[in-house]
Amino acid sequence: PPVVIALDGPSGSGKSSTARGVASRLGLAYLDTGAMYRAMTWAVLERGVDVEDADAVAAAAAEVVIESGTDPQAPTITADGVDVAGPIREQAVTDAVSQVSRVPAVRERLVALQRLTIAEHADGIVLEGRDIGTVVAPDAPLKLYLVADTAARAARRAAEQGQDEAAHVEATAASLQRRDAIDSSRTTSPLAKADDAVELDTTHLTLDEVVDEVVRLAVK
Ligand code: C5P
Repeated sequence: PPVVIALDGPSGSGKSSTARGVASRLGLAYLDTGAMYRAMTWAVLERGVDVEDADAVAAAAAEVVIESGTDPQAPTITADGVDVAGPIREQAVTDAVSQVSRVPAVRERLVALQRLTIAEHADGIVLEGRDIGTVVAPDAPLKLYLVADTAARAARRAAEQGQDEAAHVEATAASLQRRDAIDSSRTTSPLAKADDAVELDTTHLTLDEVVDEVVRLAVK
């Protein structure tokens, strides 16, 4: 299989489950770059920084140490040595992460870390994010861009959270769309499909079908 597989797409398009499934099946490492931006956001919020203040975010971000474990069966994420796997999924982090991710100094640090992680896994790694195929690993031999209807994305995210009431699904859809709007419009490495990425619409596919398709593309 290709040494680097890049999986990009908007929130809730199925990237995380797909990336972990593909990495497990092919025996590759796995890196959730969204978790890194979330961990950075958690640490910035912990320091009481106003996320609208880009200079303050940049200053705080320079001090934060993020570490990611790359086993697809048991990924880990820490910020300043604290296990933040739980806290980074809380709404306060979700609401602030797109603001923090817009700050160029934040992206520079995390992209450097991501490239280091790629270099440490010469046997192969699957990365998921928003700018993997365009910025982090533009030479990746296999790039996927996952998309899905907003309704399908919100329903999946709500199901993951064990809350499938209509009001929650609707709030989730609004939250996804708000993040996508900020992620797509920022000036530094916005959410974008690389020219050479294969687009896959996951709306009507099961997770197994998506994983099968990516594995097929990887080994062909
Ligand atoms: O993938 P996930 O939804 O956890 O990502 C959280 C946020 O992190 C995104 O909404 C985006 O603002 C940011 N992100 C990014 N670049 C990446 C991965 C995530 O800006 N490569």
